Amino acid sequence: MLYRSTRGASPSVLADKALRAGAAPDGGLYLPDALPALELDQSPASLSEVARQLLPAFFADSALVGAVGEICDSAFNFPVPVVRPGDPGPHVLELFHGPTGAFKDFGARFLFRAFDRMADANDPITVLAATSGDTGGAVGCAAEGNTNAGAVILFPKGRISPFQEHQLCCWETPVRALRVDADFDACQTLVKQAFQDKGLSRQFGLTSANSISIGRLLPQMSYWVMAARKLFADTGEKPGLVIPTGNLGNGFAAVLARALGEPIGPIVLATNANRTLHDWFTDGAYKARASVATLANAMDVGAPSNFERLQAFEPSAPVAVLRVSDAEIRSAITQLHERTGYVACPHTATAFVAHERLSDSVRGQRPWVIGATAHPYKFRETVEPLIGRSITPPAALAAVLERPALVGDIPARLDALATALAG
Ligand SMILES: *Cc1c(COP(=O)(O)O)cnc(C)c1O
Repeated sequence: MLYRSTRGASPSVLADKALRAGAAPDGGLYLPDALPALELDQSPASLSEVARQLLPAFFADSALVGAVGEICDSAFNFPVPVVRPGDPGPHVLELFHGPTGAFKDFGARFLFRAFDRMADANDPITVLAATSGDTGGAVGCAAEGNTNAGAVILFPKGRISPFQEHQLCCWETPVRALRVDADFDACQTLVKQAFQDKGLSRQFGLTSANSISIGRLLPQMSYWVMAARKLFADTGEKPGLVIPTGNLGNGFAAVLARALGEPIGPIVLATNANRTLHDWFTDGAYKARASVATLANAMDVGAPSNFERLQAFEPSAPVAVLRVSDAEIRSAITQLHERTGYVACPHTATAFVAHERLSDSVRGQRPWVIGATAHPYKFRETVEPLIGRSITPPAALAAVLERPALVGDIPARLDALATALAG
């Protein structure tokens, strides 16, 4: 299986090379050259069984192919329930039962297990990530305990919530958190400078783990397929998916899974007030914008990084995009709780609003699945006042809070980062 660049100016590579590189050398994103012809019976199966059926073909001929099954089993070892808060009403695929309480755990756990197998003592891998949100926690957690693939996480001092900071700083070796005395953009610039420094990059085997990595994208197909097969078996209809969307990693994984022939119906991307995807969907023109801050802050994206993939892939069946305001997020959280007792995080709430906005006939045609991307406890400052009660942390997040935090402080300078990497 070869991966080509969306920009067509880099050679095609095998999966392990694509994972190691992150983006293609020409600045494009890697896409499978051709989809594998999988002959699957598509009967319901557990998440790791589904992953074992789908993923090995995507790693064919690469150094990882023999390890993919084992990686799936160890990465996907937590529950992924499909629940139904109200009947009639959408089904909810809860993607937040991993160790850091958000769906980023799936991609990060898969990617780091793959990296750890690819690296060795003479050729280490260090993931360097600037992050403010869910990705950093998932990356740190996924790297903890690795032998050859570690992580260094940069975040802006005083600009993230205390819980977020704790979730970046509580992981043990080979993970390190660095608090940078600057804003988030300066952290990202620092990461870019480090990647451009050939000596530094080679010495530490620097690579990224952002949402364009096929090592995060491909495993995310598995849970959509798991849920779709189950509902298809129950109802005889291909379920529609409603996906809270920021950088379009989760959404593109669903598009890819549908293209494999899995029983997935319409795909609806729910965004917050950031309008780039919505404007592209309504008038066909793509225009990146600066992001605006919303309650669903993990989706505050003005230039969705996976959009280039969606365009290059040209899915035969389209996606729809619905845009949701903060006011709608608030009232959806309150009303859903009043009606059913179910508590949604602000990201998940965008999908409930989008589902509600479909016409009665479209909604009534088939079962619908909402992706619940984070546990509401992670956004309790927003959610608790709306539902009028406190939210109990799940065991995994309570355990995170119990861990000691360890952090280094650096100024936003490459020499300081280089010293920290060596220390
Ligand atoms: C990252 C994230 C999203 C957006 O996912 P994309 O793959 O970037 O579209 C939605 N909800 C939560 C909670 C997230 O952490």
